[in-house]
Amino acid sequence: MLVYNTLTNKKEEFKPINPPNVSMYVCGPTIYDYFHIGNGRTFVMSDIIRRYLIFKGYNVKFVMNLTDVDDKIIRKANEEGVSTNELTSRYEKAFMTDIKRFKMKPADVYPKATEHMHEIEDIIEKLENKGIAYNVDGNVFYDVGKFNGYGKLSGKKTDDLELGARVEINDEKKNPLDFSVWKKSKEGEPYWESKWGNGRPGWHIECSAMSMKHLGETIDIHAGGNDLIFPHHENEIAQSEAATGRQFANYWMHFGFLNIDKQKMSKSLGNFFTARDILDQFPAEALRLLFVQSHYRSPLNFSKELIESAQKGSDKLNNLVRLLLKEIDKKEGKLVNYDFNRQYKLFAEAMDDDFNTSQAAAVIFDFTREVNKIIVENDNINSKFYEEAIKFLKDTANDVLGIIDFVQLENEAPNLDEGWILDEIEARLQAKAEKNWKLADEIRNSLFEKGIILEDSKSGTTYKKK
Ligand code: AMP
Ligand code: ZN
Repeated sequence: MLVYNTLTNKKEEFKPINPPNVSMYVCGPTIYDYFHIGNGRTFVMSDIIRRYLIFKGYNVKFVMNLTDVDDKIIRKANEEGVSTNELTSRYEKAFMTDIKRFKMKPADVYPKATEHMHEIEDIIEKLENKGIAYNVDGNVFYDVGKFNGYGKLSGKKTDDLELGARVEINDEKKNPLDFSVWKKSKEGEPYWESKWGNGRPGWHIECSAMSMKHLGETIDIHAGGNDLIFPHHENEIAQSEAATGRQFANYWMHFGFLNIDKQKMSKSLGNFFTARDILDQFPAEALRLLFVQSHYRSPLNFSKELIESAQKGSDKLNNLVRLLLKEIDKKEGKLVNYDFNRQYKLFAEAMDDDFNTSQAAAVIFDFTREVNKIIVENDNINSKFYEEAIKFLKDTANDVLGIIDFVQLENEAPNLDEGWILDEIEARLQAKAEKNWKLADEIRNSLFEKGIILEDSKSGTTYKKK
């Protein structure tokens, strides 16, 4: 399996440190607002990478941090007149709701910066003892000049960076490139006590500390959006590797931006749609399909037309699944010759090539066309064919890409056939007439699970769909 590594700028064979275990850390959201579908792209693509590793038989520990102390959080809490804790717990809840709606597999750990102050202090202390971090009156900086590898991830040269950084004058720093690992608290800001005085950590050190705490000093995969390559990930590497003397992450993966009119979707530009707004209008599977249909490293321009076309694609997949679920009970019938193994092979070939999800989706759409054709051309097919077709779609489109939700489709009323529903209502009335309350309740509950709500009145029983 090949993975593109930002650190080496090439696709490399994936070799985890301790197979079948894989450790993966993704830089998660700053919880001060609802997240937008640009963030959503990064989260969903990291979810798909994780799911594919599981498909390959790896045992993945997946950590996504929540940034809960930062300038933007403090500013917004002050604007609203609430504490930073109140603000972040509100948006943490919203985040959890939204990623569930996005059908993301929950992370194994969602560490928060404010819960890792000891670990953060430990790293800063190590850096200080090694003479790599210096304290100026309660502000602690990382001395970039002391780390030889600075720039190895982003490919930036310190000389060029210095020229660019001179505009930002800061008398306290030895070198304009040095960055904060501990910030002295200002009036009205939340703070933590430390040996350097009251303050709070810099953003980069938080991720170093949380990654090491939950996954170890060297991990397999560290990921995030393209905007994090510099300075965030470059600085994480500098701090962590200077502190431990070991490589921090073996594979660095970065996701392309979701753009609007060729501009990065971002809070500050105001050109964003929140995930919850879009998920109110379109099913998660359609949005995931939209993401899947372009390569995770490429930019993706979001538009209404694109999501509508993804919705049509998603309808095609769902219709096939409905058909398969409907036909599967036909036990007898002729066996059809179809090479399911070849489909698995094509799917895996695509995904093994640096998670080429658009190619993998093409395999699934070709499969959908072929299976539909077989069903149309043969009227009496053995159920084995349907079982295998369902299994293939479950393993790939459902479990890895998340562009089909079988649980949802299996719980739909069988195409909500009216005659069938009326028969069930009749059977329930019959059960009630026989005082078989248990059976009557079972029928009501089973209809409810299929999305049908019964309403009893004097004039009889009617139904409505959920
Ligand atoms: P933030 O909450 O801004 O820290 O972002 C959370 C994650 O979303 C980070 O990994 C960012 O790199 C990523 N991200 C932010 N904006 C975009 C975008 N327009 N497209 C893709 N990923 C993004
Ligand atoms: Zn991070």
